[in-house]
Amino acid sequence: MAMRFSRLAEYFESIEQTSSRLEMTRILSDLFKEADRDEIAQILYLLQGRVAPLYEKVEFNMGEKMVIKASARAVGVELNVFTTLFKKKGDIGVAIEELKKQASTLFSKDLSILDVFNQLGRLADSSGVGSQDLKISILSGLIQELDPLSCRFVVRIPINKLRLGFSDVTILDGFSWMLKGDKSLRGVIEKAYHVRPDIGFIGKTIKESSEKGLTHVKPAVFTPILMMRAERLADPKDIFEKVPEGIIEEKYDGFRLQIHANKSGVKLFSRSLENVTEMYPDIVLAISTEIKYKNIIIEGEAVGYSTKTGKLLPFQETVQRKRKYDIEAKSKEIPLRLFVFDLLYLNGKSLIDEPLKHRRELLSGLVKNTAKNTLNLAPETIARAPEDIKKSFLKSIEDNLEGIMVKKPDGAYQPNARNWNWIKYKKSYATKVEDTIDCLVMGYDFGQGKRSGFGIGALLIGVYDGQKDVFKTVSKLGTGLTDIEWREVKKLCDQSLSKKKPLNYSVDKQMAVDVWVKPSIVLEIRSDEITKSPMHTAHLALRFPRLERLRDDKRPDDVTTIEEVEQLFKLQNR
Ligand code: AMP
Repeated sequence: MAMRFSRLAEYFESIEQTSSRLEMTRILSDLFKEADRDEIAQILYLLQGRVAPLYEKVEFNMGEKMVIKASARAVGVELNVFTTLFKKKGDIGVAIEELKKQASTLFSKDLSILDVFNQLGRLADSSGVGSQDLKISILSGLIQELDPLSCRFVVRIPINKLRLGFSDVTILDGFSWMLKGDKSLRGVIEKAYHVRPDIGFIGKTIKESSEKGLTHVKPAVFTPILMMRAERLADPKDIFEKVPEGIIEEKYDGFRLQIHANKSGVKLFSRSLENVTEMYPDIVLAISTEIKYKNIIIEGEAVGYSTKTGKLLPFQETVQRKRKYDIEAKSKEIPLRLFVFDLLYLNGKSLIDEPLKHRRELLSGLVKNTAKNTLNLAPETIARAPEDIKKSFLKSIEDNLEGIMVKKPDGAYQPNARNWNWIKYKKSYATKVEDTIDCLVMGYDFGQGKRSGFGIGALLIGVYDGQKDVFKTVSKLGTGLTDIEWREVKKLCDQSLSKKKPLNYSVDKQMAVDVWVKPSIVLEIRSDEITKSPMHTAHLALRFPRLERLRDDKRPDDVTTIEEVEQLFKLQNR
């Protein structure tokens, strides 16, 4: 018999009660064992509080007020009675659970997971006139039919409050535990997940054909592939040594797009795998008129240009294209050029394991090298000697670009990986540190003095230890943000508060903060120097850190890694 939702709620409860990551992984692996292959995908989406993979724009559009209405209606109490109880308990789920326990009629149906999933899917799908009433009646129907514990979790889903406190990596480890009783398969599972970051698809594949199935996982059009990243070096000789005869491209300072197209249409994904198709109609038009009906996945960087001079614009101007309103008007004011530099999939065939040289050859058959159109092939030259790298770099600086990329001609495209297949060589700044560092906001202090009025005075920021899947601190940032930035960051923090220190944060007692923030906000930080530090768990700290920009295009596990900070530390001390 298909698994009941009430059973899943029991799992949710044990996950909620444990504060050990290992224990959570074990609970997940038991759940995965018990689940059937026809319901595993739905269970995985529900574990993330969703009804679709993370990259699909499926939203419930339900506010707290609507959930209160649905709850009060389901148990037949006045709105203010429910609201009072909710305030007292501080949690909408616990409030409805208590009222359900008190309700005299016992729940009538023991709904299956698929039943509940489908109803939540209907709820998310309904939009337009009358949809508010429909959403309320779907949710109140679910509350009526479910037991108290299930209600606790179900009402949290439409307001994005399910948050069970684990990362994707913990889910993947759960599968490794299910298959092997330890985390030894993490690498294999992660690799497949980076090509197809659809947790439901990965789970179903494992249930159907265990780890063997994963080796056949290939990219699919309209499922974004986790994007490959670059290592950094600061000397042409070192670069040439690592990558002889490398392919030199310019490093454009815009935003990266992964473009998926077939005859049914075009979709654009950002670095954080967000579907941004609607934001860039000019790019969609260029792709659909110039690359006709091909099954493709390509990558490139989009940069705004001046309609007066034709020159590329600095990032601060390009970024204005990232908006939800007035899209058409802004696209006339700041038109984009897309410089494509990689081809990952063509007509049914995955190209990610092909050498870059071959991928670029195929790409040049699809896109012209112009720098005058919306769609352009990123120009390439070959580095025959270190001097070529230096020359290209200096030219790119003259042209007001960020620097260059040097890529290994026979390198594969490795989703999500950062390795020597791609090397970035960026402008060296007046500081000792060669590059900015992307940090995760882990929490904040209320602050004193002038900023006590804002309610935020210092930010605890950290970098990622991928081996251990934990974030480690590198700085407490108390200056280097403008008043507007402090307000903005505070607002974002308050959307992701955590009652306790999140499990995957490693923080020294001396660095504890007034308020913990769940992994969600990424800041690009510039600093003068990296120093050794006994107080920060990364054992390195940033000196004179300041905010360069908010990186809402990056996911928490996209932040700079410990290894990279160590490498920057070495670079600076040469
Ligand atoms: P960074 O964000 O400093 O780690 O640099 C990597 C980013 O540079 C990529 O994610 C792209 O958005 C951007 N980029 C600009 N030009 C290129 C290029 N020719 N090849 C690859 N990435 C590029």
